[in-house]
Amino acid sequence: MDIEIDWPASLNIIMKEFNGISSLNNDSTAYNLKNYLEILPTFTMLKLNQRNPEFYETSRCCQCYETIETWTHLWICRENDTTMIQIINETFEKLNCRLDENDFRISFNYHAKLLQILNERSLMIFNGRIFHETVKGIVNKKLYLGINDNTFKDVIKEFVFNIKEYARKYIWNEM
Ligand SMILES: [Zn+2]
Repeated sequence: MDIEIDWPASLNIIMKEFNGISSLNNDSTAYNLKNYLEILPTFTMLKLNQRNPEFYETSRCCQCYETIETWTHLWICRENDTTMIQIINETFEKLNCRLDENDFRISFNYHAKLLQILNERSLMIFNGRIFHETVKGIVNKKLYLGINDNTFKDVIKEFVFNIKEYARKYIWNEM
């Protein structure tokens, strides 16, 4: 696990706006840490006031009613207005622009390769995939695609940062 994750890059993303304990009152830092620790309130907790508390007891997702609600399910519930794949495709567009700006050419289909890696099982998140890691701001070294170039690595770090931001903006805020 330690070998697989770029921890310095991940902490830069997760703790970006952390500047002392008082910043825990800051929304972004609090969100990042709760998300990392998987202690964000779930749909059920958020909607408990509006709906029947029995959903809380059964732990069923109160959006789709079909799955036991967990942190990993929050991001892949089929009732979400925005899907993870939409978020990944949108952030990929940004990644593409950034590579063009830097005149960085890659000779293989890196979009397909990144999608394949993001869909692989995570070794650090229970029942999660590598895109779940990116939702937390964790940079998996596999995403560097074996390209040992700092420009490319920076673009990938920004890619992970953007997935985390968009997941919060579109999935989390739309709940
Ligand atoms: Zn659901």
